[in-house]
Amino acid sequence: MPNYTPPVRDITFTLDTIADVESIVALPDFEHVDLDTIDGMLSEAARFFSEVFAPTNEVGDEKGAALENGGVVTPDEFKPVWQKLVDAGWTAVTGSPEYGGHGFPRTLGLAVSEMMTSANLAFSLNPMLTGSGIALLTRHGSDELRDQYLAKLISSEWTGTMVLTESEAGSDVGALRAKAVLNPDGSYSISGTKIFVTWGDHDLTDNIIHLVLARTPDAPAGTRGISLFVVPKFLLTEDGAPSKRNSVETVSIEHKLGIHASPTCVLAFDDATGYIVGEENKGMRYMFTMMNQARLEVGLEGLSVAERAYQHAAEYAKDRVQGRAAGSDELSPIIDHPDVRRMLMTMKASTEAMRALLYDAVAAEDRHLSAQDELERIAAGDRLALLTPIAKAWCTDRGVEIASIGVQVLGGMGFVEEAGAAQFYRDARITPIYEGTNGIQALDLVMRKLPMGDGAVITAYLSEIESLDGPLADGGDALAGVREHLGAALRTVRDATSWLAASNDPQARMAGATPYLEMLGTLAGGYYLARQALAAQSEADSDSWMAAKVATAHFYAVNLLPKVHGLAPSVTAGSEHLFAIEDTNLG
Ligand SMILES: Cc1cc2nc3c(=O)[nH]c(=O)nc-3n(C[C@H](O)[C@H](O)[C@H](O)COP(=O)(O)OP(=O)(O)OC[C@H]3O[C@@H](n4cnc5c(N)ncnc54)[C@H](O)[C@@H]3O)c2cc1C
Repeated sequence: MPNYTPPVRDITFTLDTIADVESIVALPDFEHVDLDTIDGMLSEAARFFSEVFAPTNEVGDEKGAALENGGVVTPDEFKPVWQKLVDAGWTAVTGSPEYGGHGFPRTLGLAVSEMMTSANLAFSLNPMLTGSGIALLTRHGSDELRDQYLAKLISSEWTGTMVLTESEAGSDVGALRAKAVLNPDGSYSISGTKIFVTWGDHDLTDNIIHLVLARTPDAPAGTRGISLFVVPKFLLTEDGAPSKRNSVETVSIEHKLGIHASPTCVLAFDDATGYIVGEENKGMRYMFTMMNQARLEVGLEGLSVAERAYQHAAEYAKDRVQGRAAGSDELSPIIDHPDVRRMLMTMKASTEAMRALLYDAVAAEDRHLSAQDELERIAAGDRLALLTPIAKAWCTDRGVEIASIGVQVLGGMGFVEEAGAAQFYRDARITPIYEGTNGIQALDLVMRKLPMGDGAVITAYLSEIESLDGPLADGGDALAGVREHLGAALRTVRDATSWLAASNDPQARMAGATPYLEMLGTLAGGYYLARQALAAQSEADSDSWMAAKVATAHFYAVNLLPKVHGLAPSVTAGSEHLFAIEDTNLG
């Protein structure tokens, strides 16, 4: 079974150099958190997730979840580990202290989530979705709903789900048809069949709280007619204990390419009792709180699986002896071959770039929610909005790519399940699909996020990247390559951004969306690594880990940043060439 060693040093370095965690814990909401507590928490999390949680990864993949007698059964090995996770409080890190949570910043919650997700992606989806549901109820739930559900969800005594998708309503959520009819007592009767509900049923807790989108009878068509409901698996007694079973049935679970331990359920709601969140027809707005948090967490899945695949491949490459390196008379470990080295460096550099992008995005969320200064809050919210689709799509695409490179590093053994690399690849493959496909993320970036503030938000972000030029120039020869390639990539992205802003052909902008997202993500990765190289430079002579940070930024700048230029023509090519072939000649 592949080992997992949590990359605590890189997480800490990223928290310091990119997220500026010191300024986050100085925010009034986090006065009870100090830097020593953070160090202790990260090292204890590293121990827990590597020693206790990670050993469930392979067995979860092999046994998977099963549907027996109408209920989902998890592998036996999961139950004691779940209890330890809950008892140790790892699911309550960011929850509100008012409801028993530890009230830590989301940035630190992300560090814990990273380790949990690397340790077992499929298992981590249960606390992940519960956490996103907590964010939704905290922000939009009535006092009554918060009092009934938040403490139990934060403690993980109960878990939560996100219930949007129907067979005819996937990317187009507005097409959903589940019904909600108001009852005389103020509750609603919810009916309809929902598909693909992650952890929609299981045997780890004594209640599951579904957050369900449905339509009231006279609701307008599309997303403007969607309402949001809390639908518990077991209805609560007056004193809040689970009692009568609600009419939600688990019809089946899917057999999937990966994340076998995560039950993906078809749920039938048949006049199930639900309680409205907020007002009728505003459900999509509330659900976006949950979805935006989950999008960052899914981006994190790309990083987490990449980290695991990278560690595994590097270990293998040090041991596997094959051929002779140039100029050597001895047989060599494959890590000495330039092509294997290129693969490992690509894995390392991309993984560290993803980490920086994600921690920056979540730090912006902390500032957006907790900064005292109104302008700072608004600017942080805009940054978060811009970075969310990039973090989700770029990191998950890289996650799949890096897991695939991991298979390649192992050669034939990469294709053999026993070695472990194949599971990372299979598990990673869902991440560009769920929580809004990456194609939908690209449309969000180009059609909604670039126009924010008449282009001011993207302009500010690109100017921030430009402002690194001076410090990089001061960095001398060691950073000259980074400076040159970052500057060139920035110019190309600026040109593409201007082209998109000037185009009044929506079809053409949509056609360029995916390559644009990739170029912006690639540029952002180079920017963050350049910042880290600057921070590491002064210690590079005395500390090989810091020297590696500088060298990694250089590798990324020379080998990966130039990809930006190759993407430019397809951003600005328009859509005609995509439709030049009749449908009948496709397929
Ligand atoms: C394992 C798993 C777990 C899931 N968990 C959950 C969950 O917990 N809760 C939940 O509600 N849902 C969940 N989903 C559903 C998931 O979010 C959807 O599968 C996803 O949003 C895509 O919808 P779809 O499958 O209907 O694909 P479609 O919407 O049919 O998309 C097919 C392809 O067409 C593209 N496409 C569609 N519309 C457009 C457009 N307008 N412009 C450009 N391209 C477009 C898509 O990008 C995609 O490539 C899960 C799915 C899976 C497989």
